[in-house]
Formats: sequence, structure tokens, C-alpha cells
Amino acid sequence: MEINFEDLKVLYSEEQLQTRIKELAKEMNGFYKGEEVIAVCALKGAVLFASDLVRELDMPVKMEFIRLSSYGSSTTTSGKVNAVDIKLPDLNGKNVLIIEDIVDTGLTAKFLIDFIHMNFHVKTFKFCSLLDKKITRKVDVKPDYYGFDVDDKFVVGYGLDYDGYYRNLKYIAYKEG
Ligand code: 5GP
Repeated sequence: MEINFEDLKVLYSEEQLQTRIKELAKEMNGFYKGEEVIAVCALKGAVLFASDLVRELDMPVKMEFIRLSSYGSSTTTSGKVNAVDIKLPDLNGKNVLIIEDIVDTGLTAKFLIDFIHMNFHVKTFKFCSLLDKKITRKVDVKPDYYGFDVDDKFVVGYGLDYDGYYRNLKYIAYKEG
């Protein structure tokens, strides 16, 4: 699939994203009530979302970064999750918040949820995804927090890429047609 900037249609605008992120942060601020949170950002796709989200959180936050991959340079998942870099500090007893860009088949989310629970006894565990593509789900996972639904479209922008490009768009877009 070829994507050109000219073909892109805005799905969620910058304003919609920023408004929703503030709403999500408000919910989280209410849940954590000032307790420290370890925000684990799943690179590379969640980097813009995570940076905007954590700036709206009002408790002490430490940020960690992990890198997983399932897509390569295609628009359909390979169905296999690769832990490219998943070094994390001791998360025992911590409030852990995973920040993802999109839950599609759910394989990455499931991998991460299992990984955290197999390795740590965390105080609380929450999974937050900017986007939720429920229609393509292959395993039964639901984000605790998510920003927007996406139907069966391949989306780019605001951290999400096609072959490495488009991450810098301020909005979420899809290719028309
Ligand atoms: P899953 O493991 O849930 O199938 O896929 C998770 C990963 O696939 C996401 O973190 C994201 O990197 C990638 N992905 C899934 N759907 C899309 C999409 O519509 N656009 C882009 N750019 N990446 C996607």
C-alpha cells in the first residue's frame, strides 16, 4: 500500500486529540490520587501520545520506554510480537501505567500485560491506548483507558507510522479509498 500526504483524510484532529487526552488525564488523576506512577511508553508509536498525556498528570511520574514490534514495513500485523527492548526497573509494588498507540489484534497488549504480571507484583496495573481497533481483535484484551475507536482502517499520524513516516503529524489520518 502506498500512502501520499495528498491522499490522507483527517480522522481525529489535533484539537480532538488534545481534548480527549485532557479527559483521560483527568480520569487518571482521579484514580491515582497523587500516588506515584510509572508510565511505560511503548515505542515508537506511543511517544507523542505519552508525552502529551504525562504533561497532564498531576502526580509524581517516572517514565520508562520499551520497544516491541509486530508490523515491519507492512500495514498488516505479522501476528508475532518481538520484544526489541523491554528492559524495565523493579516494578514490584508500583502503580504501572502502560501507554500504547493502538490496540489492533491485541497481541502486543496481551504480551505486555502477561510480561508485567509474570515478572512483577505491581500495586496497580492499567493499560492505556490512544486508539482501540476492536473489529480486528484476535485475543480478548480491553484497554482500561482509551482515547478513540477506529474501525478497520490503517491509520497514521501522531506517533503512528507507515514505513517510518507520518509519526510527526499532529492528527490521526487514514488513506481515503
Ligand atoms: P496488535 O499487536 O494489537 O495487533 O498491534 C499493535 C501494534 O500494531 C500497534 O502498537 C501499532 O504499532 C501497530 N498498528 C496496529 N494498527 C495500526 C494502524 O492502523 N496504523 C499503524 N500505523 N500501526 C498500527
